[in-house]
Amino acid sequence: MVKQYKQLIGGKWVDSVSGETFESKNPSTGEVLGTVAYGDERDVDLAVAAARQAFESEEWGDMAPSDRGRLLQRVALKLWDNLDYLADIESKDVGLTINETKNIAIPGSIDVLEFYAGLANKVQGATLSSPSNRFNYTLREPLGVIGAIVPWNFPIMLTMWKLAPALAAGNTIVIKPPRETPLGVLELARLFQEAGIPDGVINVVNGSGSTVGNALASHEGVDKVAFTGSTSTGRLIMQAASEHIRPVSLELGGKSPNIVFEDADLDSAINGSLFGIYFAQGQVCASGTRLFVQESIYDEFVERFAERAKQIKVGDSSDPETQMGPQVSEQHLQSIERYVEIGQKEGATLVTGGTRKKDLGEGNFFEPTVFSNVTNDMTIAREEIFGPVISIIPFKDEEDAIRQANDTLYGLASGIWTNDLKRAHRMIPKLDAGTVYVNTFSMLDSVAPFGGNKGSGFGRELGMEAMNMYTQTKSVWMDLSEEHMNWYGF
Ligand code: NAD
Repeated sequence: MVKQYKQLIGGKWVDSVSGETFESKNPSTGEVLGTVAYGDERDVDLAVAAARQAFESEEWGDMAPSDRGRLLQRVALKLWDNLDYLADIESKDVGLTINETKNIAIPGSIDVLEFYAGLANKVQGATLSSPSNRFNYTLREPLGVIGAIVPWNFPIMLTMWKLAPALAAGNTIVIKPPRETPLGVLELARLFQEAGIPDGVINVVNGSGSTVGNALASHEGVDKVAFTGSTSTGRLIMQAASEHIRPVSLELGGKSPNIVFEDADLDSAINGSLFGIYFAQGQVCASGTRLFVQESIYDEFVERFAERAKQIKVGDSSDPETQMGPQVSEQHLQSIERYVEIGQKEGATLVTGGTRKKDLGEGNFFEPTVFSNVTNDMTIAREEIFGPVISIIPFKDEEDAIRQANDTLYGLASGIWTNDLKRAHRMIPKLDAGTVYVNTFSMLDSVAPFGGNKGSGFGRELGMEAMNMYTQTKSVWMDLSEEHMNWYGF
């Protein structure tokens, strides 16, 4: 049955002002999963006003931090109870395999909520060194209303990365879910509400990026914009937020290098690099899309890697046997096909894959794809494809690997596979990226800050650091002298 979804504004589930709706489809089957209220600027105005009212309310604004933490813990328990439900809807709406949602994305998201629930009463200012006639201290305060804009690849998880620290710090939020995959975020908001989050603390407005997203990013009533998405949209977000000089945090695209040295444990390097590219159908910002392999082991590595890639089982995301689900949409599939064509035209060797899997019915299925003999200046090594396409590039030595790895617009993640501890430590500071993986790839944890350098954005989500993005410092001065202040000698 097709479910009807509205938007959450001020604690009420409402239609959009325009009354328009759109459909969200299962990319494995083409089946319509839900019709969703389609908002515009007017809905954003209402949601921002509701979030402001909740921020200033006694119920939320004066809630003791420990009580806020306890409330978020209660939400987390509710989410654990609904793990299977959330995993199912996220898998069907996005195309992530049921194993990816059930074992990684949803439990990982709840873990993030628990982490920040625990930090709600640990936000601290400082007492500063002051002379005896004066007292200086700082407060860390919430910013107010957060505007959160989320992409389609991990909607629940990437919403939680913003929602959990924002609420733990005492802010309220307006979320714009992705146009392609809004259902998980709407279900998540419903569960927060059912667990007792006060009205207006969480608001959700659906719609297009250029209308709802832009209205939120440029809104005078929004105190900070938290964005995850492509680098080109990130640029627009910065421009929009500059209208009222609002801070932004940007988690953007990547073209992450993953470097395999001849001394590495090759079985691990092959397994880890397969996971690094084909996890979540390659629709991961930090994917190891540029696989640098040392010349001496290049041919053997490519052959073994491609052999394994061919064995990955592509299929319906709800089937527990499936190892790689569908791409999010027909449009995205076409974009991946274009990159495969460009790769071949520019002289890379297509070792395996490169086409749709047509034997699987209506879904947007693509084969795990491997290109070898890629050079770092080819389009497929420079632009984000955001699909299951890897470019394997040879390198000579450590210096060459670092030079090529850093020769990119992006700086999100990097991987090194080596058994030489000294080499790993030498390379870590030289790789221009927000995360470095050594003998592993695509690891995430609530405690570990995540974010990018250069074109991959700025700000760090997760870990203690994210609490700084959702609080601001107030510096307080108090005069302790017994005399009256009399600067002018009156
Ligand atoms: P996108 O930039 O097209 O959209 C992201 C969000 O922004 C969506 O909700 C969209 O509706 C909205 N949006 C679009 N135009 C807008 C505008 N003009 N103003 C305001 N909002 C607007 O990205 P996508 O295609 O949904 O997601 C894929 C991209 O996200 C990839 O580039 C990927 O690397 C990136 N990503 C980054 C991270 C990270 O943590 N660094 C994580 C996941 C995805």
